[in-house]
Amino acid sequence: MSFKLANIEGRAALVDGENYYDLETISNGKFDNDTSNALTNLVGLSELSEDLSKSEPTGLLHDVKIDAPISAPKNCYAVGLNYRNHAEEAGMDIPSVPMVFTKHTTCLVGPNSTIEMRSDHVDYEAELVVVIGQPGKDILKDKAWNHVAGLCVGQDISDRTVQFSSKPPQFNLGKSFDTFGPMGPYLVSPDSLQNKESLQIECKVNQEVRQKDNTNDLIFDIPSIISYLSEIVTLNTGDVIFTGTPGGVGVMEGKFLKDGDVLRTSIEGLGTLKNDCKRISDHSGVNKS
Ligand code: ZN
Repeated sequence: MSFKLANIEGRAALVDGENYYDLETISNGKFDNDTSNALTNLVGLSELSEDLSKSEPTGLLHDVKIDAPISAPKNCYAVGLNYRNHAEEAGMDIPSVPMVFTKHTTCLVGPNSTIEMRSDHVDYEAELVVVIGQPGKDILKDKAWNHVAGLCVGQDISDRTVQFSSKPPQFNLGKSFDTFGPMGPYLVSPDSLQNKESLQIECKVNQEVRQKDNTNDLIFDIPSIISYLSEIVTLNTGDVIFTGTPGGVGVMEGKFLKDGDVLRTSIEGLGTLKNDCKRISDHSGVNKS
């Protein structure tokens, strides 16, 4: 069950190397153009992936605009303080239950999208992102990977002013400005990875490495997060989960993102996001911190 699924200019496509193959075309209409719909038939996706060499590529990835692998999930969850070194740098106790908030799905954008900043306190958070395949409720930890369609790279961009301006703090809006959820470049099925629970993760601002860790340092691993969430909410096909960021975020040293910065976020086996940062205006709370 191995595949790489991309969203090329709004159309589902399978990826092989630098080539992409329009899913509706190569499946003779068995699949439509929607990536979330494609995740309801993972076996079919894998079979088509095995036979890609028999089809003519639709085009080259570097010639097209790649959108977020899932453009309109029902829900997008995120886990805070999920790496020990990040909880420590934030001066917080190691959590005993996952600290979950949501990113509004309208913030999700493609792997090379411009991040539009409205204050001088916008920060990066490199994260492994999980996308749900088979829906589920009350999912047991040892069955959780059966519900994962794929993994990709994500950035949980955060306006720290808005994130912490209300008392008590409420994370959703500060992390949900339009463009604050770059993800991609495509969805990789877990079995494409040699060790899906141990992946190097790195974030660079321009040429400077700011975050470097391994996803085996997650406090709550993917099965734990899925099991915990699904006791509360039904997880649906296409739902997105940002799993938390390692230490090294900008706020700790006052190294926020600036106009013109280039943010590169990579995870072993999943690819790289490259996002230009643009300071477009001030939001109303910008002078309050
Ligand atoms: Zn985060």
